[in-house]
Amino acid sequence: MKRTAVFLDRDGTINIDPGYLGDPDRFQFLPGVIEALKRLRAAGHLIFVVSNQSGIARGFFDREALDRIHDRMSAALEAEGVTLDGVYYCPHHPDEGCACRKPSPAMVLEAARRYKVDLEASFFIGDRASDIQTGRNAGCRTVLVLTGAGGETARSLTGARRPDYVAGNLGEAVAWIINVAGKGTQ
Ligand SMILES: [Mg+2]
Ligand SMILES: [Zn+2]
Repeated sequence: MKRTAVFLDRDGTINIDPGYLGDPDRFQFLPGVIEALKRLRAAGHLIFVVSNQSGIARGFFDREALDRIHDRMSAALEAEGVTLDGVYYCPHHPDEGCACRKPSPAMVLEAARRYKVDLEASFFIGDRASDIQTGRNAGCRTVLVLTGAGGETARSLTGARRPDYVAGNLGEAVAWIINVAGKGTQ
């Protein structure tokens, strides 16, 4: 049986985005995020983080530092009973023209293949236009959060580029998803 997933941007969606975060000590969850992820887990969705981390290509931090950040993030969630199913990131510079950087759906498609995810019944949540485009490129429904760069993004996304839903924060996004998914495929 295919499963539903929620793909999450990291910076500005899960944690405060100071710009090119490379120091694990500065990783800080946004308010309500842990509770929101608990609800997603309880609702039976797979949870993946899908992040552009060009700070690596720019030489601001290395993969080891990024791994430490993700280990800390995962451990804090595990302590609350939330297991992430995967953390995917693109380490490349935008100018490299790699295949994985959002808005490419490559990271989402890789997770979907590995975990047999029904993308049409799944969701992408993020705070930037590239997140909304990634979700759309992967065939998911999309939610823009107004945390991080979300306020600016909301003003820039017009017409067909708009997300399926705009939420104040991850908690509101999850509440909408649980509502929609509950009415849909289950
Ligand atoms: Mg972001
Ligand atoms: Zn890449």
